[in-house]
Amino acid sequence: MRVGIGTDVHPIAVGKPCAMAGLLFPDDDGCEGHSDGDVAVHALCDALLSAAGLGDLGSVFGTGRPEWDGVSGARMLTHVRELFEAAGFTLGNAAVQVIGNRPKIGPRRAEAQHVLGELLGGPVSVSATTTDGLGLTGRGEGIAAVATALLLDK
Ligand code: MG
Repeated sequence: MRVGIGTDVHPIAVGKPCAMAGLLFPDDDGCEGHSDGDVAVHALCDALLSAAGLGDLGSVFGTGRPEWDGVSGARMLTHVRELFEAAGFTLGNAAVQVIGNRPKIGPRRAEAQHVLGELLGGPVSVSATTTDGLGLTGRGEGIAAVATALLLDK
């Protein structure tokens, strides 16, 4: 068994479609970034790469790699799954927590968990919290996410 951890923070981009935890939230602003800005997916990818000992998001999808410009969260997770499976691992479980005022994750939690679980081939828990108005997430300037993953030997 191997555990990993990942975090991510992006500024909010007013008017950009909001991709979060593998879903689209049409009534919310998304996050800046050279991908779709899904911080939950980015934190999950980092946790999985961390657990597998395969580096991090920067080393796999770094900004110096134009082939990943604008990449969707689903495509990133699919690639990370290919990498950890090729390294001899399968997903035990993963968890990700979104930290921010919006989007509201709770009403779509089951949907997000299903989408992410299908992409990764194992159970993924999705939760959310706010910072009671404090800091960059509390002021609505950005959204953060933290994730953990447990990989098992195949
Ligand atoms: Mg990111």
